Amino acid sequence: MNIKEILQLDDFSRDDIITLLSCQGEERTLLFTKSAGVKEKYIGKKVWFRGLIEFSNICSKDCLYCGIRKGNKNLKRYNLTDDEILAAAKFAYDNQYGSIALQSGELEGLHVTQRIENLLYRIKELSKGELGITLSVGEQEKEVYKKWYDAGAHRYLLRIEATNEALYHKIHPGNKKHDFKRRLDCLKSLQDLGYQTGTGVMIGLPFQTPEDLAGDLIFMRDFDIDMCGMGPYIEHADTPLIEYADDLLPLAVRFDLTLKMIAILRIMMKDINIVAATALQAIDPIGREKAIKIGANIIMPNITPGKYRDSYRLYDNKPCTDDSAEDCQSCLEARVSLADNEIVYGEWGDSQHYDKRRKNPSNHGVTRSHTK
Ligand code: SAM
Repeated sequence: MNIKEILQLDDFSRDDIITLLSCQGEERTLLFTKSAGVKEKYIGKKVWFRGLIEFSNICSKDCLYCGIRKGNKNLKRYNLTDDEILAAAKFAYDNQYGSIALQSGELEGLHVTQRIENLLYRIKELSKGELGITLSVGEQEKEVYKKWYDAGAHRYLLRIEATNEALYHKIHPGNKKHDFKRRLDCLKSLQDLGYQTGTGVMIGLPFQTPEDLAGDLIFMRDFDIDMCGMGPYIEHADTPLIEYADDLLPLAVRFDLTLKMIAILRIMMKDINIVAATALQAIDPIGREKAIKIGANIIMPNITPGKYRDSYRLYDNKPCTDDSAEDCQSCLEARVSLADNEIVYGEWGDSQHYDKRRKNPSNHGVTRSHTK
């Protein structure tokens, strides 16, 4: 089948996806026109905010690609105080962001569980239940996820990073702390508990093939995810994977592949939330706008207090590390309108897919009753 014929379909096989990932020129335009049309029909030309609070870069894991890995000693570690986190959440609330996302390195234990639980209650309180909350704090026990769900978190983003288990092992140390099956089990627990469940992968990793990327999208469809956050892999000088820097696809190709992955996923999963990842902007100054145009509908403006941003350096050339939260907002407003889309303020912007997936969406107690 040629690209035109494939694009007549509503869902794709592995081979179809591989063909779509390789399209260029006019065919590439056809792919993006179709995905933009699907977004407009099912979501509208709209974008919702998740004010991103990167509240700590302390991490117990040693992922071979990540700048905040435990083994990186060239990094100043930080942990925001509760008051700093609450002030950032208040900023999001006062500025009608609708939702926040709390993200950090991966730590487990009673102290972390209780701290986050307490913060969730306090954020719900300061926003009169109105701020939606996404968590992205890694692998945890199911009981911990449950505590946080009960305290008001209703979305969770846990990237599987790479769905080909062999590739997963190449980009993580081979020990219990980096267990592919546990990551999968965590995703299942989140879905079982009723979270809007998000996952994603990095695109352009060393050793990754087009077959792997096609497998990633098929995994997302079969797992029936509600949200996706995927972005280009960008090397970091202080990580073990830097060893393969010379073998990587050029940044522009990783960028292009990411846009194609977003476009294909939008056609396959029409009503999920898809993030325009910040890493896109590290490659192209208007990278996130390009993603919005062709299918993404979520942006995560960084509202971490400025003095810490430089230390949450996941990859080299991370953008906006010297901006303030106010800078981020006005910059994004201009950018989103450039992409001919409109920012929706004061709404959660929940995944429509989740609502359809869950027969009885009213069973999430307090937080759901505050959906606007
Ligand atoms: N530890 C939590 C987790 O794994 O879910 C959240 C924090 S983690 C730093 C957030 C994401 O950063 C990871 O899921 C990974 O995909 C991304 N990331 C880390 N290093 C990266 C790199 N070099 N290039 C692009 N993305 C990277």
